[in-house]
Amino acid sequence: MINGLGIIEIINKLAEVMEKNKSFLTELDAAIGDGDHGLNMAKGFQAVTAKIRDDDGKNIGDILKKVGMTLVSTVGGASGPLYGTAFMKASVVANGKEEISIEDFINMMTAAIEGIKMRGKGEAGDKTMLDALIPALEALIKAQATGKSSKAALEEAKKAAYTGVEFTKTIAAKKGRASYLGDRSIGHQDPGATSSALMLEVIYNSL
Ligand code: ADP
Ligand code: MG
Repeated sequence: MINGLGIIEIINKLAEVMEKNKSFLTELDAAIGDGDHGLNMAKGFQAVTAKIRDDDGKNIGDILKKVGMTLVSTVGGASGPLYGTAFMKASVVANGKEEISIEDFINMMTAAIEGIKMRGKGEAGDKTMLDALIPALEALIKAQATGKSSKAALEEAKKAAYTGVEFTKTIAAKKGRASYLGDRSIGHQDPGATSSALMLEVIYNSL
């Protein structure tokens, strides 16, 4: 179980990690996109930390809603509305909750992925953030079903996300700016899949 203050801590950590990986994510995006993914993520999460600074942590849904709305309104790139939608969908599941369990987290992540698919009209294999998130969720569900601890289950999810990032190197992009490159995007890892894996790593480390 994790409470609202724990969630706020994780979100602040996400902002730190995005700031730390700003150049890395931007370089990845420079290779197959327009070179702003790191800037987008760092700027978006910077704004998020300011937005949730005074939150009392009583309603996890409220916190996540603030995160989603802030990402949508401060990030110009495709990733802002997509991650924003993901957090807003997760917020609906978490609405009214003072704490969340691993089962809640699975439901939140399921809703988040559905939101990303709906908003971006994408699916697994398009070389996007979904190629990290979908395998991570599958690994999480499987680990949880076999009775692993939350920490162990999230470790499986994190690993699957990074395996997904590696997989994005082998395929051509079908969605987003990188799709303009067609087969020339092969060989490069997707920036959004990378930021998604970083997020899951932060969540895993925070438990
Ligand atoms: P932009 O492409 O507008 O510059 P960013 O650089 O911030 O935005 O984000 C790029 C990332 O967004 C990509 O690496 C990819 O993971 C993700 N992305 C782009 N389009 C889609 C989509 N339709 N569905 C899911 N993810 C997408
Ligand atoms: Mg970009």
